[in-house]
Amino acid sequence: MEEVLKPDLCVIGAGSGGLSVAAAAAQFGVPVVLIEKGRMGGDCLNYGCVPSKALLAAGKRAEAVRTASNFGIDVIEAQIDHRGVHDHVHGVIAAIAPNDSIERMTGLGVRVIQASASFLDKFTVEAGRVLVRARRFVIATGSTPLIPPIPGLDEVPYFTNETIFDVSERIQHLIVLGGGPIGLELGQAHRMLGSHVTVFDTASLLANEDPEASRVLVKKLQDTEVVLYPNTRVERVERSVQGIAVHFHKDGETTIIKGTHLLVATGRKPNLKSLSLDRAEIAYTEEGIKVNEQLKTSNRRIYAVGDVIGGPKYAHLANYHAGIVIRNALFRLKPDVSAAAIPRVTYTDPELAQIGLTEEEAHKRFRRRSIRIYRWPYADNDRAQCARETEGFIKVITRRDGTILGCTIVGAHAGELIQMWVVALAKDIKLGDITSFVLPYPTLSELSKRVAFTYYQPTLTKGWVRSIIGLLRRFG
Ligand SMILES: Cc1cc2nc3c(=O)[nH]c(=O)nc-3n(C[C@H](O)[C@H](O)[C@H](O)COP(=O)(O)OP(=O)(O)OC[C@H]3O[C@@H](n4cnc5c(N)ncnc54)[C@H](O)[C@@H]3O)c2cc1C
Repeated sequence: MEEVLKPDLCVIGAGSGGLSVAAAAAQFGVPVVLIEKGRMGGDCLNYGCVPSKALLAAGKRAEAVRTASNFGIDVIEAQIDHRGVHDHVHGVIAAIAPNDSIERMTGLGVRVIQASASFLDKFTVEAGRVLVRARRFVIATGSTPLIPPIPGLDEVPYFTNETIFDVSERIQHLIVLGGGPIGLELGQAHRMLGSHVTVFDTASLLANEDPEASRVLVKKLQDTEVVLYPNTRVERVERSVQGIAVHFHKDGETTIIKGTHLLVATGRKPNLKSLSLDRAEIAYTEEGIKVNEQLKTSNRRIYAVGDVIGGPKYAHLANYHAGIVIRNALFRLKPDVSAAAIPRVTYTDPELAQIGLTEEEAHKRFRRRSIRIYRWPYADNDRAQCARETEGFIKVITRRDGTILGCTIVGAHAGELIQMWVVALAKDIKLGDITSFVLPYPTLSELSKRVAFTYYQPTLTKGWVRSIIGLLRRFG
């Protein structure tokens, strides 16, 4: 062994979770070692959030050109330079990469080791030719694509999120396995960039989302000729002259669809294998590393954050986990990881955003008569009309007294509009209180205020309220 390091904290994995822990601890003056076996920035920067949103932005630009005539602007057909789109996506990654770089981390005082880490015992990690004996460890090794056991899949070429952003030419017909957020975002981006796209899922599309909201997105996908096969089991795949043939059962018959390329987006599995967790007495399942409310593993000196602990997988959640670990490890505080409501967004067109409980979840958890559902359509918002973005709605789920349980938004910029509801839930703001905010006109954010006003609608129609308003009018 070349070197033995004894920092206070050793972080394994330099993605959203690991970078946040390492940077925060170093800024508090803690000696930190950060080990990364691949690219700094992890999935989010290199193969996930950033390239997928950059690709969608390119697709949405092409779509804006196609629909410009609705605004009285005549344009010739959008010509898509796929090398140019590729360069745009990688240019965005390159622009953000310095924030996650070895140089930045080193500048903060973090010692970065580029190697694969694995535990030797309860107190020691080996990374290349370095041994790290830290007072505490944080495992932030993320997740990788889960490849389903579909017969023939191991004999055909396919993309995952780790390879599809390297494509620099037009894909003629992309078949997507998986109709969750990743499959639909990437499928729609390719459709907007001129590919034929077919999506399969064994369940309904966006199965975890509010079905009423998902339907708005599904309609948009169908209107733009994305071919959807929800609740369909792919039986096998094989090579064909075009590229790929997918066999599946439909209406009692075996059917075949042929495409040129295949994208597998059927879920994620935690990166556990190379860590030798047993040697460090860290308990785990196939879903991820087991942790308590402070994100401590069964080895109390070792925490785990982000995708590797299973459950919902988002960059902002990994970042939130980092804050929990810092507060617990450095300040002995005991924040509870389950305390915050975590928002989620699918960045398709239209976007679909959720915080707290969906309508269905609220019905399962509370008595039907004790909850209220309030809706307001985008079509009744002046700014949405100006931009011709009138598809979608906002839906708020509350207790009878206006305590907010959740909010679903499907429509343009839903991912931005959800922020007000994140604050409302975090600060226990009641639905009625939102009516007192003065919001700029005309903005989409007025959707939130308008839905809040519907809380008072039943009261406004009551006889005694009308009498008081009448009296005030006469004498006021
Ligand atoms: C296509 C796609 C789009 C996404 N879009 C969004 C989005 O819009 N918004 C959002 O919030 N989330 C999104 N996500 C999810 C988000 O990318 C992840 O939740 C987030 O990256 C998790 O962070 P992490 O720190 O847990 O893991 P990662 O970011 O994956 O980082 C883990 C790091 O650990 C390293 N590593 C693994 N094993 C070892 C080892 N043994 N030794 C050393 N290093 C190791 C890996 O190389 C990797 O760099 C998306 C994911 C995908 C796939």
